[in-house]
Amino acid sequence: MLGKLGVFEPVVHATGAAILDVYELTVGYNGTTALDRVTFHLNVGERVAVVGPNGAGKSTLFKVIAGVLEPTSGDVRVAGCSPRGHICIAYVPQRNDVDWMFPVTVEDVVMMGRFGRLGLFRRPGRQDRAVVRECLGIVGLAELAKRQISELSGGQQQRMFIARALAQESTLMLMDEPLTGLDMPAQERILALLDVLRMQGVTVMVATHDLNQAADYFDRVMLLNHRLLGIGTSAEVFTTAHLRDAYGGQLRLVETGDGLLALNDTCCGHG
Ligand code: ADP
Repeated sequence: MLGKLGVFEPVVHATGAAILDVYELTVGYNGTTALDRVTFHLNVGERVAVVGPNGAGKSTLFKVIAGVLEPTSGDVRVAGCSPRGHICIAYVPQRNDVDWMFPVTVEDVVMMGRFGRLGLFRRPGRQDRAVVRECLGIVGLAELAKRQISELSGGQQQRMFIARALAQESTLMLMDEPLTGLDMPAQERILALLDVLRMQGVTVMVATHDLNQAADYFDRVMLLNHRLLGIGTSAEVFTTAHLRDAYGGQLRLVETGDGLLALNDTCCGHG
């Protein structure tokens, strides 16, 4: 990944490889097993919701795929290569894990999406600035380009990260609870932008606590509680047995005319 001069060299994707292959992935922290032999495969352009109770291992999974955490065992392949060094992965951590007081503007953050393509010695040019402006326009933040990131609302913060992913021309986007704590209009704007990402062929994984939203807006859902309890359509995965395995008493299941309705008593644990 680091060349002779210490210059960052992006990974070259293997031709014809799947966008994401996770095989028998196990991750432990000081004896605690966060993920236990998780295996799945994602197709290009899919939109997958990752659901499970607090502490199920959702963030851990994203960190391993993003290459910021090493697995204990198993294998993760992004476009046929190990996760580190990709410029195609856009990872948005949970809001609490971002230093919002860091003194950068919204357009600075979106420009960071261009850096992987610039190389060490090239400064952003007119073309890069045009891409950043265009991406800010797509997410509706053109007017806020010069604002400090600390001044954004929660929904605007998430839209800024989507603009960065677009500027980066990423092909795999991992968003850790982007909808948590947002009001409905803000959530709907983010969900609409997922359609823009789909049109660009971006594969998207979103961790969420909202099972009903996961069922309504995503191609497939993944139910996780350290082990992978299921991945597929919501009808295949959100069965009473699977949900009881995942949530135990934390979830109330109500039979309705349209099927099972999941009432989640727990939220994100961030108040
Ligand atoms: P989720 O995102 O689903 O809430 P996490 O991936 O954050 O789950 O956590 C999975 C498990 O790993 C939990 O038991 C959590 O306490 C543990 N864990 C997560 N991060 C750390 C860490 N840095 N050190 C020790 N344990 C951790």
